[in-house]
Amino acid sequence: MKITLNPNAKDDATRNALVAEGGFGKYYTDHMVVCEWNEKDGWAEPALIPYGPLSLDPATAVFHYGQEIFEGMKAYRQPDGGISLFRPEANAKRFANSAKRLALPEMPEALFLETVETLVKQDAGWVPNEVGESLYIRPFMIATEVGLGVRPTNKATYILIATPAGAYFDPSKAVSVWISTEYVRAAQGGTGEAKCGGNYAASLVAQKAAAKEGCDQVVWIDAKERKWVEEMGGMNLYFVKGKGTDATVITPKLTGTLLPGITRDSILSVAKDLGYKTEEVMLSIDDWRDGVASGEITEIFACGTAAVVSPVGSAKSTMGTWVTGDGQPGVITMQIRNHLLAIQHGTTADKHGWVRKVC
Ligand SMILES: *Cc1c(COP(=O)(O)O)cnc(C)c1O
Repeated sequence: MKITLNPNAKDDATRNALVAEGGFGKYYTDHMVVCEWNEKDGWAEPALIPYGPLSLDPATAVFHYGQEIFEGMKAYRQPDGGISLFRPEANAKRFANSAKRLALPEMPEALFLETVETLVKQDAGWVPNEVGESLYIRPFMIATEVGLGVRPTNKATYILIATPAGAYFDPSKAVSVWISTEYVRAAQGGTGEAKCGGNYAASLVAQKAAAKEGCDQVVWIDAKERKWVEEMGGMNLYFVKGKGTDATVITPKLTGTLLPGITRDSILSVAKDLGYKTEEVMLSIDDWRDGVASGEITEIFACGTAAVVSPVGSAKSTMGTWVTGDGQPGVITMQIRNHLLAIQHGTTADKHGWVRKVC
């Protein structure tokens, strides 16, 4: 890795003040990593350089045809003051899968991990200290061939940036969702399984529609039968059936149109470790409505790297509105959230080998 340090890196006091502000995506660390690829030579040596704007030809492919992918992961402060990543190998694999789907070059796992670890070590001072806080790491790749012809790019640029993330979980507030029957996120054969900007670009109109209905988030249902629950915005969904030790924790099955979340996958194990039954199921809007009405569904939450776990309260659709629980985060929801955070922050045993020490 070529290293060029930022001569204008923030001093300790300034940086600590910015980190202490909390929030998400407001400030970026002093450095970024850039790695170029072209068809002839493959991947070049990555470079750690000062964080700053890019200069690109206006005819660069990504601006026109959206050939782009990204990832999201976090670095967490550990009790000994060190820093660990949570399952970064899983992000590396998914990034390669997304690349394949978007006709972008697959980045070798070792190279991907090297870029992440180098940036985290260099900008370690930007990792907040409290449980629930972290450094959010955003790798992405864009098609950089210049020209308006529509074809798979012969040049790509990988970039890695990082931003401190505060503890933006508000336990008093469950998310309200609008179940979109008008718009579809992903269809079989499409890009639903890939983490690409295009999926998000196409989803924003539904997010607007949700806001118009007075809801915080949009819930996606399947494209074909228009009844199977898939995801919420950029997060996977979980439903708790029953209560106490008899509860079953269920999540929509990966059908090829859902994004395979690493938090989703981790929760399947965590819920089992906590003594609950787990199931990956096909769950329809009717099942959701009827389950809430009968009291069988006791808790609902969404999960993803950014927010970890967010309780879901009311659901609204063209069929009406139904409310889960009392609008407060469920007991099992909070138990799973706290357990996952404890693994991530190194305060409970990491029996699955998920935590990767960086420094
Ligand atoms: C990233 C993402 C998720 C969550 O994945 P994690 O690996 O848990 O962060 C869920 N759905 C969509 C659409 C996503 O882009």
